[in-house]
Amino acid sequence: MSDSYDVIVIGGGPAGYPAAIRAGQNGLKVACIDGWKNYDGSHAFGGTCLNAGCIPSKALLESTELVHRAREEFAVHGIKVGKVEVDLAQMQKRKAGIVKASTQGILALFKSAKVTPLAGHGRLLPDRKVEYTALDGSVTVLAAQQVVLASGSAPMPLRSVPFDGERVLDSWGALEMSAIPKRLGVIGAGVIGLELGSVWRRLGAEVVVLEAMDTFLPMVDQQVAKEALKHYRKLGLDIRLGAKVSGASSGADGVSLAYTDASGEHTATVDRVVVAIGRRPNTEALLGEGTGVAIDERGFVVVNEQCWTGVEGIYAVGDCVRGPMLAHKGKEEGVMVADLIAGRYGEVNYRTVPSVIYTAPEIAWVGQTEEQVKASGRAYKVGVFPFMASGRARAMEASAGFAKLIAAVDDDEILGVHIIGPMAGELIGEAVLAMEYSASAEDLQRTIHAHPTLSEALHEAALAADKRAIDFPNR
Ligand code: FAD
Ligand code: NAD
Repeated sequence: MSDSYDVIVIGGGPAGYPAAIRAGQNGLKVACIDGWKNYDGSHAFGGTCLNAGCIPSKALLESTELVHRAREEFAVHGIKVGKVEVDLAQMQKRKAGIVKASTQGILALFKSAKVTPLAGHGRLLPDRKVEYTALDGSVTVLAAQQVVLASGSAPMPLRSVPFDGERVLDSWGALEMSAIPKRLGVIGAGVIGLELGSVWRRLGAEVVVLEAMDTFLPMVDQQVAKEALKHYRKLGLDIRLGAKVSGASSGADGVSLAYTDASGEHTATVDRVVVAIGRRPNTEALLGEGTGVAIDERGFVVVNEQCWTGVEGIYAVGDCVRGPMLAHKGKEEGVMVADLIAGRYGEVNYRTVPSVIYTAPEIAWVGQTEEQVKASGRAYKVGVFPFMASGRARAMEASAGFAKLIAAVDDDEILGVHIIGPMAGELIGEAVLAMEYSASAEDLQRTIHAHPTLSEALHEAALAADKRAIDFPNR
């Protein structure tokens, strides 16, 4: 192993590994140090996203949505399948296979970009040195021209309900359960709580979700959030808002969660608890003495818009810096930094980072919510098109939800797009592209959309913003 590199990336998740690959593509000599540890002690690149986040959760969401549809919808299509049974071991095996293929794929990508993979722990030292502790415990000090910190994040613990790995689980534990709990408690009605709550509910668990805030999904356009709550409750998620959990006690009957809400003190007794109240940056063991890199009061590495820390040659990207904790946001930051380091152009447009909640119905959005636009004081217009009026959605037996477009009155600029409905996460790509290229609502109106497709919903929402929708009465 050489001790000197052009670029060392610390962290091999979706922010770090793309940074390393792009730096390699740019002709630089690169190493990527990653210390992920699986439950069996083995190492794999890919970070939270590939090992314990995006990929395994989407694998289980897909499988369990099929179970749900087989049970609830096949008969409507005229398909008789008899009793639908779940083989959880096979479902988990399929998920593990997808994770393995994804994480091993990174090693192949590293090889083609000539990136040196280093399994173990990295710690930044002053003067762009990095202390590398390999999995066998051996320590080497490496030198680099530039260092990219991409150490990611970990589940936020709840002091009153500590993780025990048995009954009180974090999101990773919730993905790995080998039996379907009869009663599942979820603390936090955020993205993880709703996605993983949906997984286990569809498999038959009674799921109670305790959310401290009175407002449901405050970061989501509230017209969408209201629609979503209706569907989640129909699925059977028992979502209790304004529920402040004060403690947990384990007994023969399970775990009793004590909480208070506006109506007083309550207890929810469950077999397993998933605590999903947010994530915090992994920066505790990242920096040696005297590096000059600043960490803010919440533990994030302080960076500017270009992800530069203010210390020569030191950048930071992904979940360990400000902004949404999303894999694609980290990826774009990693690629931007690798291009900037090579003297190329690099930029992340933070105004067009899409978000997706992979429940059924799916939720996706980009730009500002109606509440944010209203608060900004800018005059706006709104177009809404329900999937009920979409021929393709009806044919799919997926006509719940709508597409909503918000545009400025003065210059027709698209300010936000919010979709709740089938394939929302795929449909939002068109809105991201439109906003990236500063398209107006009229530009979308004049763009031909194939019929019958779900994407027509966005077309019609753009038309509806000017009361010119064709397939739905304008209001
Ligand atoms: P991470 O993925 O956390 O990777 C950081 C890596 O660095 C890890 O391997 C870690 O072990 C390693 N590391 C840390 N410190 C050191 C060190 N000092 N030395 C060496 N290695 C170190 N986002 C989406 O966009 N879409 C989704 O669908 C989605 N689903 C999710 C589902 C779940 C259940 C969870 C938990 C998260 C999900 N996320 C999703 C969020 C997404 O996983 C994160 O935003 C993303 O993984 C952040 O990427 P990162 O590279 O910054 O950090
Ligand atoms: P989150 O911030 O989405 O939601 C946490 C929820 O817990 C919030 O609603 C919050 O009000 C609530 N909460 C906080 N403290 C509480 C308490 N003491 N009692 C009850 N409720 C409490 O966080 P998350 O769901 O843990 O997800 C973490 C991150 O991972 C998010 O930033 C998210 O962007 C990312 N993620 C993304 C996806 C996706 O893109 N589909 C999926 C999963 C996770």
